[in-house]
Amino acid sequence: MKNKALALDKKDPLSGFRSRFYIPENTIYVDGNSLGLLSAEAEESLLRVLDEWKTLGIKGWLQGKRPWFYFAEQIGDIASPLVGAEPGELIFTGTTTVNIHALVSTFYHPKGKRTKILADEVNFPSDIYALKGQIRQKGLDPAEELLMAPSHDGYNLDEDTIVSMMTEEVALVYLPSVLYASGQLLDMEYLTKEAHRRNIPIGFDCSHSAGAVPHEFSKWGVDFAVFCSYKYLNGGPGCTAFLYINKKHFHKEPMTPGWFGYVKEKQFDMLHEFEHARSAGGWQISSPGVLGASTMEGSLKIINEAGIENIREKSLKLTTFLKELIREMLPATGDGFSIITPEEDHRRGGHIALAHPKIALRVNEALKARGIVPDFRAPDIIRIAPVALYNTFYEVFQVAAALSEIIRNKEFLQYDNRRKPIS
Ligand SMILES: *Cc1c(COP(=O)(O)O)cnc(C)c1O
Repeated sequence: MKNKALALDKKDPLSGFRSRFYIPENTIYVDGNSLGLLSAEAEESLLRVLDEWKTLGIKGWLQGKRPWFYFAEQIGDIASPLVGAEPGELIFTGTTTVNIHALVSTFYHPKGKRTKILADEVNFPSDIYALKGQIRQKGLDPAEELLMAPSHDGYNLDEDTIVSMMTEEVALVYLPSVLYASGQLLDMEYLTKEAHRRNIPIGFDCSHSAGAVPHEFSKWGVDFAVFCSYKYLNGGPGCTAFLYINKKHFHKEPMTPGWFGYVKEKQFDMLHEFEHARSAGGWQISSPGVLGASTMEGSLKIINEAGIENIREKSLKLTTFLKELIREMLPATGDGFSIITPEEDHRRGGHIALAHPKIALRVNEALKARGIVPDFRAPDIIRIAPVALYNTFYEVFQVAAALSEIIRNKEFLQYDNRRKPIS
């Protein structure tokens, strides 16, 4: 298997990209689904913007190499091929959860019998908090109005169960693309089609797929989407997020308006009557945090150069190889570990999730002690994300070998079962 790993690396067309990233020393970093690594290009664009501030002061808004005033719109356009957005439909603004509020408030209009939001019970907590908050803002009770599609196994969802819940009481469907815990990729095209057949708008959180899985938002007719940029898009901790709105909705009212959503040419007329830009830009709220956002310019350069289709192809090979190794190397029975990520390529995002009812946290700690960085998600999941741009097949081999030794030799017993604030 080691030889197979080395052979796979040898013929990997993306292998050259690894040297453009800063890999923490003596580390096998397989946590790009949580915080992607810094690239030389991202560092460069950040330093350039810092220098523009130093040398241009306020003139940077129009005279920066990429003028700060148009930064959010331009980065949105550059990222459009990753998700299949048409010009003006994607903007680089806000943060994931703020963008959820901005868009759900535009799309959620409970009326008559149609009062509910359909989500799912394994979604990311922040998304659920935001949906509940939006329901409360309408004077309604989340216990009544938030429908949660159930998971059959506690980890994954079934698209047809979700569709069966798209009833006449549903005013909005809001789902993840890739489930943050299990790594399942939902069939967004199918779900969009079924929601629209019932006249229900549908939005997605693509934080766990953007940069790893190509999407076709516009072709599929997705109404809106949000995604962060610090996972597979390698923007850095807390980097600005993306907001997508289908152009057929540009006329809709932004319900969390702010001056950066104003028609661009007239923003500095400083009028009190709000007139929103007829583009995703209309949903911007505040001045863009240009410094924090600046890494994305360099990072997108690399991603677009590699090509999202090639990234996806390698990512699937990496995760397929990881599963193969785990099945071969982990003690077969009695150890209780299972791969909970769906088996088929088209139902999987960029990471593999392993579950163990008792020892997942301790095994995760043991991996970290060996210089391997995966992550743990309560109560029982280890997530491993080999990233196409900077991980190798040989690293995947090393991760599986370490896992196998840790379990076989009961190395995990040396580690505490207590969770740190971030694990
Ligand atoms: C990463 C992630 C978030 C993070 O939200 P922030 O507002 O960026 O902190 C939210 N939802 C999902 C599904 C995520 O994967």
